[in-house]
Amino acid sequence: MRKVLVLEDEANIRSFVVINLQRAGYEAIEAASGEEALEQLRCNPDIQVALLDIMLPDMDGFEVCRRIRASGSKIGIIMLTARTQEMDKVTGLMTGADDYVTKPFSPAELTARIDALCRRTGASIPAEDPAEIRQPPFMLNTRNRTLEKNGVRVKLTQVEYAIIKLFMDNAGKALSREEILDAVWGRDYFGELKIVDVNIRRLRVKIEDDAQNPTYITTVWGYGYKWGF
Ligand code: CA
Repeated sequence: MRKVLVLEDEANIRSFVVINLQRAGYEAIEAASGEEALEQLRCNPDIQVALLDIMLPDMDGFEVCRRIRASGSKIGIIMLTARTQEMDKVTGLMTGADDYVTKPFSPAELTARIDALCRRTGASIPAEDPAEIRQPPFMLNTRNRTLEKNGVRVKLTQVEYAIIKLFMDNAGKALSREEILDAVWGRDYFGELKIVDVNIRRLRVKIEDDAQNPTYITTVWGYGYKWGF
């Protein structure tokens, strides 16, 4: 499993990042101070990427970055910056870091950056697990179970995500309501077909340009629905 160091002194931000990294299939190593981060890097030479907060109790994140590079380490380094930090100053100080992410960031954005960095630093993502399904204007990230429309995150429930994934895997094909129910809720689900329509209606409000005149999820009268445009 790919290891990522998370250096962040604010416990709630740190656990938010850690939980999302774990969900995305990474092993997260935590540190709350610069010294702790450097110690963890010594103990875990297989860490591939380090996320470094800048404002820390003992030293700033740039100093941690400088010390990591001074040790000859070639791991990927992403700085976690606050919106209030002046970006020209940050980028000026970024010597040695590979990328930066501005807080508040979405889990999808962060894992996309880490994935990109892992690719650049030579670590590969298993080919049999495509993390992204791109059907413009939509992009589904199957690692984080998130959907973006024109680059903007669409908040989905787990059921809505499962429906969208089913549609994208079957683009252009009419799916009966029974098929959707079986695939998303499971064959032994004891509910009514109406639950499919309820969820589709809600999904349309979230993803269609005009939910009254849907163009992405179209109705196949007397049968079900089709994803195709
Ligand atoms: Ca901080």
